[in-house]
Amino acid sequence: MDNASLAAAFEEIATLKELQGEDGFRSQAFRNTARRIETLPQSAAELFRAGTIKDAVSSLGKTQLEVIGQLVAGESCSILDDLRARTPPGHLEMLRIPGVGPKKVRALHLELGITTLPELAAACESGKVAAIKGFGAKTSEKILQGIAFVTSSGRRVRLDQAIGLAGALLDRLRAVEGVSRAEIAGSLRRRRETVKDIDIVATADDPAALIAAFVSVPGVKSVIGQGDTKASIVLEAESSGGRLSMGGKVGLNADLRVVAPGQFPFALNYFTGSKEHNVLLRQRAIDRGWRLNEYELAGCDAAISHEADIYAALGMAYVEPELREGTGEDAAASAGSLPALVRVADIRGVFHNHTTASDGADTLEAMARAAKALGLEYLGIGDHSQSLTVANGLTPDRVRAQWQEIDALNTRLSGITVLKGTECDILPDGSLDFDDALLAGFDYVVASVHTHFGQTREEMTARICRALAHPAVTMLGHATGRLLLRREAYAVDLEAVIQAAARHGKMIEINANPMRLDLDWVHCRRARELGVPLVINPDAHSTDELAYFSHGVDVARRAWLSAPEVYNTRPLQSVLADLKARRA
Ligand SMILES: [Zn+2]
Ligand SMILES: [Zn+2]
Repeated sequence: MDNASLAAAFEEIATLKELQGEDGFRSQAFRNTARRIETLPQSAAELFRAGTIKDAVSSLGKTQLEVIGQLVAGESCSILDDLRARTPPGHLEMLRIPGVGPKKVRALHLELGITTLPELAAACESGKVAAIKGFGAKTSEKILQGIAFVTSSGRRVRLDQAIGLAGALLDRLRAVEGVSRAEIAGSLRRRRETVKDIDIVATADDPAALIAAFVSVPGVKSVIGQGDTKASIVLEAESSGGRLSMGGKVGLNADLRVVAPGQFPFALNYFTGSKEHNVLLRQRAIDRGWRLNEYELAGCDAAISHEADIYAALGMAYVEPELREGTGEDAAASAGSLPALVRVADIRGVFHNHTTASDGADTLEAMARAAKALGLEYLGIGDHSQSLTVANGLTPDRVRAQWQEIDALNTRLSGITVLKGTECDILPDGSLDFDDALLAGFDYVVASVHTHFGQTREEMTARICRALAHPAVTMLGHATGRLLLRREAYAVDLEAVIQAAARHGKMIEINANPMRLDLDWVHCRRARELGVPLVINPDAHSTDELAYFSHGVDVARRAWLSAPEVYNTRPLQSVLADLKARRA
């Protein structure tokens, strides 16, 4: 069982406990453990088997250890089974309604016996919900709107979708007269790979005018709450139709908080989170005899007008939002050892891209011109290999024809250099899809798994490690095959894969297609620890998708990566020399 599944089980236990009305501290303890496991670089299952899990997750109590033991052994988890049996599935769905938490779900159940969304909708319409103590007509109406939202939208949206929606929203708010500052906060600012809402913090001369503008922006599907300084809306927009995306509408909650100018840095910091990071900062304030909250740093007389001033007052370097996950950033920030994070402008070229020769939408020349227009120095082509016939994989003859085409293009075009690569399939037994003679002719080889996702964890791990041992392989493509919110990763021991890459001197790709973001930030950080170079690749299938590499930069920053640790920040000559040395 991998960490993500283990963490999901702990999350579920926490939520179900809340729905059962159990003590909040006990459910929160399960949630904290979920969070710890999710950010563990090692396999929690292996740590458990080795008897060292408590060293890594110190908060584990007896019950939680039992839960891990049962799940790791592949047994059913008695606590989880019991909670599930006692919880109607409809109660979990109700939690997705904006403004409805475990307490409200319990009240609806105890007062009206409601167990499903349709029952809840009917009870709202008949006025029964409005009559419950603490609900009222307004709440009932919001719940009805919320049901419509929940049944028409997913739980979370991808980072790229949220960035698109939030950017447009922010532009409109900043255009309102008297708005001096408006910024994105929350997990979106920290660049989590999926988010469940947009948080905005702003200051304005006339908060009422800003709130009025916010609740009437284009794309508002419903207004969940509207006060003097705070409002919540549901936005709806067409999803960007990338090649791997399902398209259709996405719905997303957006919250605006308007604060006084002096409160702005504190509110921005607080609402950016994470909760774990906020705990670290609050503790540092307490250590100095001060008190930090979303309005002020009480007791401290330093002048604070920006977030960075808060960190300085607390005796630490500024922590970039992407690092605020409670995973050691406070210690590094006070020791002055935080990395200078890689930036989008540092990226000089990309290696994994497709053309019309396989399953891309644009020609080699169009891709090269688009890469040049983006300011890149080199564009690596990685069309599919022969056995991937569904993606029109290239035969050896077609590969050689493409090499000639690339040579001709390079003499014709200036300002961009096209490199000869391949996205070579890793066959089920771990061998490669071209013979060694042909592989030796490429500048580099991206090796990827595209078939037989159902192999066992042992088979898949051995398969990928064998490919990494092949001398022709330069880098591993999309390491887990996951599609965010759509397809789970295949079973694979990533620790073993990263170790193999380290052993054989190979790189690992951060596939920056926003549907993938694969390798994820937790394992990128592990790769960094082991000195494995990461490569940010857009896996572009059209000229538009070349710009995807910026999403990979977000992942890299969350993984603490600086420019020298990302291979494609190197200039062309350095890359050419290195690739040549690797083939020698
Ligand atoms: Zn691929
Ligand atoms: Zn690809």
